[in-house]
Amino acid sequence: MTERKVIHGGKVCDGSGAEPREQDILIEGARIAEVGAPGSFDAAEAERIDATGLLTVPGFIDAHSHGERAKLRYPENRSKLLQGITTEVDGNCGVSWSCIPYELDGKWRWEGLAGYAEAVDRTGCSTNTVILCGHNSIREKVMGRRNALANADELAAMRKFLERALAGGAAGWTTGLTYCRGKFSDTAELTALGEVTRGTKRVYATHMRSEGDDLIAAVKEAIEVARAGSGILEVSHIKTIFPRNFHKLDELLDTLEAARASGLTIYADRYPYVYSSTIISQTLPEPYFHDPDISAKLRASAAFQDEITEALKHSPRDLPTTIIMKKKRTLAQIAEAEGISIERACMREIMERSGSAAFLCMSEDNMRRILAQPWVCCGTDSVSMQLDDPASIGHPRSVGSFPRFFRVGSEMCGVGEAVRRMTALPAEIFGIPDRGLIRRGCVADLVMIESDKFDSHAGFRGENPFPAGIRRVIVAGRTAWDAAKPETVGRYGRFLAINR
Ligand SMILES: [Zn+2]
Repeated sequence: MTERKVIHGGKVCDGSGAEPREQDILIEGARIAEVGAPGSFDAAEAERIDATGLLTVPGFIDAHSHGERAKLRYPENRSKLLQGITTEVDGNCGVSWSCIPYELDGKWRWEGLAGYAEAVDRTGCSTNTVILCGHNSIREKVMGRRNALANADELAAMRKFLERALAGGAAGWTTGLTYCRGKFSDTAELTALGEVTRGTKRVYATHMRSEGDDLIAAVKEAIEVARAGSGILEVSHIKTIFPRNFHKLDELLDTLEAARASGLTIYADRYPYVYSSTIISQTLPEPYFHDPDISAKLRASAAFQDEITEALKHSPRDLPTTIIMKKKRTLAQIAEAEGISIERACMREIMERSGSAAFLCMSEDNMRRILAQPWVCCGTDSVSMQLDDPASIGHPRSVGSFPRFFRVGSEMCGVGEAVRRMTALPAEIFGIPDRGLIRRGCVADLVMIESDKFDSHAGFRGENPFPAGIRRVIVAGRTAWDAAKPETVGRYGRFLAINR
């Protein structure tokens, strides 16, 4: 007999944009059977879940995840699940190992998306997985790490990879045009790839070629690529970086609105923080920024170390406030402790391939204006973190984006609209069927929160990683996490193939 559950006594915010109201939810098996007035469902045999004082919302959809590999290694995926995330959209910023032949830790091996889907389902992860096909990954597979434009054969091979990924259920494709491989491409290469999605409803999501000095040229390129393809554009982690570019937000929004008026469909994702986080080598100025072997060259030559130390005086980033995530310290603190210049400290981190750094580079005012746009959804831009290991916690966005987005969004636009942009909106962008809404027939991915407490107080030193105010997460009708039994995580997520 199908298992039945009734969530009763609380309020429901259904993801449509409507404000919360008092309703009960009847779940049968994996799906929502009915939503009705309080007391509507008193089936004796059903499990009764008391929601008194709580708000039930659709499971959150992380529009911008980087957890393809992490969710196999850490399938409980607590850093996402405990924010209320039940579905992750992965393969962002051009990076998707899932869409190419790949071996992970000697334990998992796949030839393409079908094999990855099988690996995810066999492993059993707590969250659902939607995949976007990454340009950087397929480019490296076809062309290696060469700083060159693609020739006709290489382009054809990349198109094949993308076609295969889309046939295997990828929701679209992504670029990361400030990163190696991606940044060696030109617009013609991207439009030629985009053409593969023409006539489909598969989205083009892009970490644009510039988010600062060349922001407007970059967004025009993004629009051109989307126009050559499906006509659906998703700007990844939309922002204006560096104070000298903060004023460009008006032109950015105007350019996107004009594209929309011309018939394109425009979306974006954003995490609600003003620090960005990316690899430390993004501090390099031109021409070193384009060198894929910079760390090896630094290790090989003291003279080159001096050259880069000097060059970093012209870094586009604010070095003193830059936080080296692994060390939980700023470059200013590291330089002072070691008695060296900030530039030399930065050079050493690049040489040692220290990985992630957080950069204070955004405007709070612009962030709020961006979050106020009805087409902006929430994305963590993060991999999975181990919540019980503070050293592993990177940027607080990895554990706090959704609680913070709920908080800030509710203040600005109301609870109903904030929830819509964490649920139904991303389901629409990526074409995820039957999710993102609390409606009869939808899959019962649900989150129960104390809405006045739901927030994150996570910091850059790994403090307070656990979001506040989260009470229960349900995936496909089964309780995946319950605050009353916090040690237990149910792994009921699936790979979701997108076919639209
Ligand atoms: Zn990115």
